[in-house]
Amino acid sequence: MGRLRVGVVGAAGRMGAESCRAVDAADDLDLVAAVSPRHGGQDLGDVTGVGGGVTVLRDVSDLSASELDVAVDFTTPDAVATNVERLLDLGIHAVVGTSGLGADALRRLADLASGGAANVLVAPNFALGAVLMMRFAAEAARHLPHVEIVERHHDRKADAPSGTALRTAELVADARTRRPDVVLGERLDGARGADHHGLRVHSLRLPGSVAHQEVVFGGAGETLTIRHDSIDRRSFMPGVLMAIRRVGELDGLVVGLEHVLD
Ligand code: NAD
Repeated sequence: MGRLRVGVVGAAGRMGAESCRAVDAADDLDLVAAVSPRHGGQDLGDVTGVGGGVTVLRDVSDLSASELDVAVDFTTPDAVATNVERLLDLGIHAVVGTSGLGADALRRLADLASGGAANVLVAPNFALGAVLMMRFAAEAARHLPHVEIVERHHDRKADAPSGTALRTAELVADARTRRPDVVLGERLDGARGADHHGLRVHSLRLPGSVAHQEVVFGGAGETLTIRHDSIDRRSFMPGVLMAIRRVGELDGLVVGLEHVLD
């Protein structure tokens, strides 16, 4: 396989800029394009500190498949679906970390990607430890059906619950053999969190946090807590690079980094 030409959409954001640094530092990848609506026309090096000589584009439609193999999207929940549709139209593989793609949007993207020239890998969490946390939680749920999820993120996060919490709830719901009754008894609305696939999900938003989650199981006289902490955005980069290298081998749309982990 030759060197992959990579673009970053949302390049000026927290995750986008970190991805630019990671791609730039990888021996087998070339950082050749970047998209940021507010920085169109500027040099990427001035915006992120790496990628000098690359001119930032305003819109995904300005990208060109002849110059690009894979694009990474770290934008916003309201922009991501349109961005990925455009990437697929252009025949550019998409690695998507942005949260907020619901079941309908994923179905639509799966239809678009099916049989097309480009694939999509959507990963609710690129941290390898978080992928393992989800895997271990699914295993524990087979034996301990009483479980709730507590996730904590920085206070600038645009959406709640996190994509990781939703994905964990889905994996746990699929794995558990019994769905226990949940007693709400809320004196204040929301005191018992939100419901996703029969699991209560609780979201904390605090400065000083990056991305943290506990999956808490209860049994007779015991609790089991499976916990993951991303304390730095660099934690996501090995997974992002793995996804960039592997997305071309997939078939259409795939959700979850675990599909390229093993
Ligand atoms: P951020 O607000 O720092 O950055 C988002 C960037 O997207 C901004 O610079 C904004 O200008 C840009 N943008 C908005 N619309 C755009 C468009 N149409 N085209 C191009 N760029 C556009 O946010 P962040 O902290 O970098 O997080 C980005 C997303 O990644 C969020 O949804 C977050 O939840 C998610 N996230 C995922 C993971 C993971 O492992 N999958 C990890 C951390 C964050």
